[in-house]
Amino acid sequence: MQNLKDYAASSRWNNFSHLYVERGADEYSLTRRIRDRFSKARVVEIDDYKAVFARPRQRFQAQKETMKLILAVKKDRFLYEGSGNSQNFNLEDFYYNTLMFNCVYNCDYCYLQGMYPSANIVVFVNLEDYFKATRRAIRERSNPSQPFYLCISYDTDLLAFESVVPYCRAWIEFAREEPDLLVEIRTKSAAYRAIGDLSPSERVILAWTLSPEPVAARFEHGTAPLNQRLDAARSAIDDGWPVRLCFDPVLAVPSWESVYGDLVEEVVRRIEPAAVRDVTVGVFRLSKIHYQRMRRLRRDTPLLYDEYVQEGTTVTYTAERREEMTAFMRQRLGDHFEEERIVTWT
Ligand code: SF4
Repeated sequence: MQNLKDYAASSRWNNFSHLYVERGADEYSLTRRIRDRFSKARVVEIDDYKAVFARPRQRFQAQKETMKLILAVKKDRFLYEGSGNSQNFNLEDFYYNTLMFNCVYNCDYCYLQGMYPSANIVVFVNLEDYFKATRRAIRERSNPSQPFYLCISYDTDLLAFESVVPYCRAWIEFAREEPDLLVEIRTKSAAYRAIGDLSPSERVILAWTLSPEPVAARFEHGTAPLNQRLDAARSAIDDGWPVRLCFDPVLAVPSWESVYGDLVEEVVRRIEPAAVRDVTVGVFRLSKIHYQRMRRLRRDTPLLYDEYVQEGTTVTYTAERREEMTAFMRQRLGDHFEEERIVTWT
C-alpha cells in the first residue's frame, strides 16, 4: 500500500530529477524556461513522449512518489467537447483542452488513475497551436449568441503548477483578446498569488473546488487545506475576479450531512455569497471504464468500495442517495445563494 499521508507535505513538483524532452520541443520558449528552472535535472532526449508515457506495466501510484516531467509538442486534438459528467452552465459550445497530462495532486477519486498508463507529467509546450485552434473554434461555434466556454484546467490543476508552467497567465492574456471566449480555471490550490498581479478579466472564471477539511485531508493528497483555498478565493474576489465555488464531488462519508452542512457554513462565514459568481454541486461519479481500472489498482482507499450503481456508462450513488445529497446541498446553499446561481450535476 502506498504511503499517501505524507504526500501533502512534499513538493515533488519543485524538484524534478528527470526531464524527458521531445526533440521537437526544444525550440519552444516554454521548454527553455522549464529547463532553466530545473537546471540540475537529468535531461533525456526522446523522439516521442508516448515512448515514455505509454510504456506498458507502469505503476501509477508508485510513480506519483517520484513524478518525472516530460516536455512534448501536441500534434492534434487541441479541443475536446465537454463530457456529460460536467456542468455546461447551459452554454452550448462547451469544450475543454489538455495542456498537460496528469496533475501534481493525487485525489483518491481522480479518474486520471484509470485513464493514463503513467503518473508522470506531460507538459505540452506549443501553446500557440492551442490558441490557433481555439480562435478557429470560437469563430465556428454553433451558437454565436453565447460565448465559447472553455475549461483549461479540467483534468489537471494548472494553477497549482503555475510557478513551473505559467499556463494560466498565458490564457488570461489570450482571453483579453477574444471577446467571445469564456475560460474556466479550476483549482484545489492556494496559488492565487501566482496570477495575483494580473488585472481581473470578466472572461476568466477562477473556480475553487471546496471540500470539508477531513475529506480534503483524507482523500485529496497534496491539495491546499480548505482555509487556504478560501483565503485564495477571497483574495481573488477582492481583486475583482469572477469566482466560482465548486462543491464537487460531494462524498457520502460518515455523517455527510453534518460534515457538508458545516462546510457551507464555514464558506459563507468567510466569503460573502453575493460576491460569488455561482456555485456548483455534484456527487461522486466516474466513467465505468475508469472506475473499473481504479478498483483494480487501488485497494487502499475505501472511497472506491462504497455502494455504487452503474447508470449507462457512469458509476455513481443510487438515484435515491444522489437525490438526497443533491437536495441537501441545494437547500443549504439556497439559504445563501439564489436558485439560479446554484448549478447542479444530476
Ligand atoms: S486536483 Fe483534480 S485532476 Fe488533480 S488529482 Fe485531484 S481530481 Fe485529479
